[in-house]
Amino acid sequence: MAGKKEKQQCSFCGRDKGEALILIAGIEGHICEVCVEQASDIIQDELKNNTEKSSSSFTVPDDLTPMKIKGYLDEFVIGQDEAKKYLSVAVYNHYKRLKQKVLDDIEIEKSNILFIGETGTGKTLLARTIAKFLEVPFTIVDATVFTEAGYVGEDVESMLSRLLQSCDYNLEAAEKGIVYIDEIDKIARKKDNPSITRDVSGEGVQQALLKMLEGTEVNVPPQGGRKHPEQKMIKVNTRNILFICGGAFDGIEKLIAKRINTQVIGFKKDAEERVDSESLLQFINHKDVKSFGLIPELIGRLPVLTYLEPLDRETLIRILNEPRNALIKQYQKLFELEGIKLNFTKDAIELIADKSLEFKLGARGLRSICEAVLTDAMFELPSQKDVYELEIDDKYVNDKLSHSKLSKLKAA
Ligand code: ADP
Repeated sequence: MAGKKEKQQCSFCGRDKGEALILIAGIEGHICEVCVEQASDIIQDELKNNTEKSSSSFTVPDDLTPMKIKGYLDEFVIGQDEAKKYLSVAVYNHYKRLKQKVLDDIEIEKSNILFIGETGTGKTLLARTIAKFLEVPFTIVDATVFTEAGYVGEDVESMLSRLLQSCDYNLEAAEKGIVYIDEIDKIARKKDNPSITRDVSGEGVQQALLKMLEGTEVNVPPQGGRKHPEQKMIKVNTRNILFICGGAFDGIEKLIAKRINTQVIGFKKDAEERVDSESLLQFINHKDVKSFGLIPELIGRLPVLTYLEPLDRETLIRILNEPRNALIKQYQKLFELEGIKLNFTKDAIELIADKSLEFKLGARGLRSICEAVLTDAMFELPSQKDVYELEIDDKYVNDKLSHSKLSKLKAA
């Protein structure tokens, strides 16, 4: 504005034009050279702190042992000892391999893992728990969303986008992360696939996974989905990423039985009687997975194969009570926050496990049943100031379940 002379000074420290060497003008005010320097130092310090924090939180502890890993898994996952042992050893070897600084002539191969077991037996829980223990980035993807490049669906590379997203695009951390690929059995080769159509969602995806599982540099679209030419890509090396695949492999018991029986010539009848379908899983090997429809090249890249047992009544009861964040403990905490002591009788807990078995809901059903049993109490008690204790017995469980939608499952 003509005629009106404004006093020019640094908006941060108040130094006026005469005192400052340089005064830089902004839209609203000015900044002097001393404040610019100070601001720059603050920014440098902050950035340094952040990178130190992010890289140190992803280093693998020196005193790691398979037993320590299993001990941690035991706190969260009930039973499944065989799977826990295999997982602990595989993860231990994987990170030992990671520490191998110089690449000598004996290169330790990657120990990607394949879990086989009914849904709700703890496959995802195991993968999630191991990632938590190691403090490495973790992501869960569903194999069924992927299709061969060029078809409707997602590129397999998008699983790495999710891994990157899970750690705020910290590439160094993501390259040591864990990816859990669920429903791997759903991309099995279909035997009755008509020859004129290509198996784009099955064998094609298995082929696409090969390089990535083995270890290669992959161009990853940061936001996931399909790659397109104008997109900026992030280069991710999968050499040290641990892939854990899981699936129910429905009907694989029959293939195991067939293999065992043909091998035990002369003892066919005996073998059939001895081995019921539930315990057959313990005999699983890579041949059965191949007969199921995974291609040999993919099986070769999943060298650690283990199974998870179906959950029986006793295990369901333990799952309700024992894990560090067991359901019963969670509900007790919720009620405690309202000043109410929540108790479950032994009969009530057994009944909840029985109902979950009856409804064929497995461990996943325990939560729905507990919700159905406790929702009324959680709705009413916060407005009743004179209740300090609530005991849940089998009669209470039966009463609440008979009024809930869950009871309709029985008829189904
Ligand atoms: P899957 O991946 O095998 O289908 P999940 O790991 O997702 O099954 O299990 C579903 C839920 O059931 C988990 O969140 C967990 O609460 C519970 N659960 C399943 N198996 C176990 C187990 N062995 N120990 C403790 N909780 C379990």
